[in-house]
Amino acid sequence: MRLPEAPSLYAASADPVPVYGELNQPIRADVAVIGGGFTGLSAALHLSEKGVDTVLLEANSVGWGASGRNGGQLHSGQRRDQDWLEARFGRDDARRLWRLGEEAKATTLGLIARHRIDCDWRLGLIEAVHKPRLVAGERAYVDKLRDEYRYEAVTWLDRGTLAETIGTDHYHGGRRDNGGGHLDPLKLARGLARAAAGAGARIFEGSQATGVSRKKHWVIRTDRGRVTAETVILAGNGYLDGIDRDAETRVMPIDNYILATAPIGAGQPDGLIPAGEAVSDTRFVVHYFRPSADGRLIFGGGETYARRPPADIAAFVRNHLLKVYPTMESTRIDYAWGGRLAVTMRRLPFVRRLRPGLYVASGYSGQGIALAPYAGKLVARAIVGDPGRFDQFAALPCPPFPGGRLFRYPALVAGMTWYALRDRL
Ligand SMILES: Cc1cc2nc3c(=O)[nH]c(=O)nc-3n(C[C@H](O)[C@H](O)[C@H](O)COP(=O)(O)OP(=O)(O)OC[C@H]3O[C@@H](n4cnc5c(N)ncnc54)[C@H](O)[C@@H]3O)c2cc1C
Repeated sequence: MRLPEAPSLYAASADPVPVYGELNQPIRADVAVIGGGFTGLSAALHLSEKGVDTVLLEANSVGWGASGRNGGQLHSGQRRDQDWLEARFGRDDARRLWRLGEEAKATTLGLIARHRIDCDWRLGLIEAVHKPRLVAGERAYVDKLRDEYRYEAVTWLDRGTLAETIGTDHYHGGRRDNGGGHLDPLKLARGLARAAAGAGARIFEGSQATGVSRKKHWVIRTDRGRVTAETVILAGNGYLDGIDRDAETRVMPIDNYILATAPIGAGQPDGLIPAGEAVSDTRFVVHYFRPSADGRLIFGGGETYARRPPADIAAFVRNHLLKVYPTMESTRIDYAWGGRLAVTMRRLPFVRRLRPGLYVASGYSGQGIALAPYAGKLVARAIVGDPGRFDQFAALPCPPFPGGRLFRYPALVAGMTWYALRDRL
């Protein structure tokens, strides 16, 4: 039984979509993909384009998970910045990871262009600095990207310019990235599904994989059907539960929340954020916001780790909104929803061949609009015999969370609460 879409602005404003049927019989395929978000849809699309017979099982509807609910911000690089990556892996590998991040961004934008996916793509992303003591470092980082990485799409915005650009003096400066931007993620997910189905992938919605086992072939069971396949891709990310212990010990689901205001002219030339950029900030629990295509402010902030949403999501996120825009005290909130992302210990993706014929790609740690379609493509390429880039991601360290599959939550709650507290100090 498929669960309804999240009560998001995206779901409310999307065009009607084809409903893909439920799997209700035993079938065979070369590859079975579990999960119909960016990862799974991209994998299915790229495999089908290579002539591989691919089945995708989605428990609910395509884009139902994080892919159809997120903040819509397309970032450059990896979730970790280049300073962190250089300190950890050395300059050469850090540069390689930067290039992979650029390829990821280009993959998402290339898919949008190639498949003519109308998803309100808009250029421009700002990283806003929430503490004066972070300004010097962030400013130096702009110079580093320009000088050492030859990435000239970034510029520094001083405090006054940033305040004019985004309509609040809450921040102390910011990095404008003209290579990033924002989009409507549910439209992107549905566009990828259309492209994958058009290329020949068989998509089944309302078809939760309840178990994956291997005899001569892989067998994936659903309530009313079964897929027998040579290869399986686990693409359930934060929602994948009870399928693979190894993946679950390395990837931690986190619930994050968003609201959308009433239309206020945001992103329009004479409104709030007149050039229409998306913004995310330097907090550990990030505040992120952007104008929607119809002039609302979409604002994300606040997360929970106990798999229980706040009783009143709108009020929960609004507390964060008012820190950034205190003048919005009386602005109406029209939509509020949550979604589940997945983080790893090192905040780098978990992309692996777990066992012969069993792949996983997940744990994008809040940067999946670029990394998830890319990871899906790399897994697809590895399956058809071109593992180059896949191997580079698969070599990234991804230690298990302390406490393992069952006891990782208490350790996470303690750790995250400490960092969230540091945001306020
Ligand atoms: C509130 C929020 C804001 C975010 N903001 C941003 C942002 O601004 N920029 C950014 O880059 N990233 C952002 N992210 C992260 C981004 O959305 C994810 O990294 C990305 O969507 C992951 O895609 P995915 O396909 O791997 O997983 P998902 O989109 O979560 O898809 C997984 C799918 O698998 C299905 N599934 C799970 N188990 C099974 C099963 N057993 N059988 C069948 N189907 C199954 C689920 O129903 C789900 O549809 C955000 C995430 C959230 C939650």
